[in-house]
Amino acid sequence: MAHPIVRNDQVWCPLCKDYAYLLKIIKAAKLADVSCKTIYRYVEEGKVYSVKIAGSTIRICSSCLLTQGN
Ligand SMILES: [Zn+2]
Repeated sequence: MAHPIVRNDQVWCPLCKDYAYLLKIIKAAKLADVSCKTIYRYVEEGKVYSVKIAGSTIRICSSCLLTQGN
């Protein structure tokens, strides 16, 4: 995985082609009103941009999340 490009608190998302805030999985799940499992599925399917932090923790792009349908 490429090293993320960070600007202030935002990270460059290659899917959105813009800078976006990253969310913890649990926060993303609450925001999108889906389960954490669904968020992980989005990540696996490449529907949302994700960044690995400290080896195991994943943060995901908030803008990608907002473009996900049902
Ligand atoms: Zn994105």
